Amino acid sequence: MRLLMVEDEAVLAEVLKETFRDENYEVDVAADGESGYLLGTTGIYDAIILDGMLPEMDGYEVLKKWRKAHIYTPVLMLTARSELEDKLTGLNLGADDYLTKPFEVEELLARVRVITRRQGKQEIDRIQFGDLSLEISTCMLYNRRNNQSVQLGKKEFQLLELLMRNQNQILTREQIIGKLWGHECEAEYNNVEVYISFTRRKLKYIQSQTVIKAVRGIGYKLEEMNG
Ligand code: CA
Repeated sequence: MRLLMVEDEAVLAEVLKETFRDENYEVDVAADGESGYLLGTTGIYDAIILDGMLPEMDGYEVLKKWRKAHIYTPVLMLTARSELEDKLTGLNLGADDYLTKPFEVEELLARVRVITRRQGKQEIDRIQFGDLSLEISTCMLYNRRNNQSVQLGKKEFQLLELLMRNQNQILTREQIIGKLWGHECEAEYNNVEVYISFTRRKLKYIQSQTVIKAVRGIGYKLEEMNG
């Protein structure tokens, strides 16, 4: 597992780096937003820990630019206690999780394990629906008919996993928000729409016959188109 840590507080960065190394992570540190952004675009990281307040370019801007550039590496944002607004901004921009400073290192380790899904490997590794096969350990989506594949971002994966595990059911936006952001979060309906549209693009990319159908006023379900 390789982590990128974008953090300008040198002492904190050093402590975290040591901690993660003890847990067998490889850690690269960037001390400002600009260089952090560039490192992140390499796409080699399993997860990124991104501070909100950074010199050159702040963390929110960095995250926005990554997602715009289709870098879907899981991101955990660190925010100051006073930055409640920023947390929401971060989640809206596509952060997978956030943690408020000051935090317990153990808590950070646990959260990073979750976003990298290190613990998810013992369950059945593939879920299928129609021509789709979703590999849980890698977040890769395959079209079984033509063997095309595409890497899913964390939220796209969670969304599709939810839809595939609840085949033939209509899922409400509330259920989707609960799964993707947690029930206490203030995620909005348009966040759901954004990820639905990202995921539809990926389905199209692998030329799948499976579509995410919107059921007016209720929610979404997976459906196979014929022919
Ligand atoms: Ca900072």
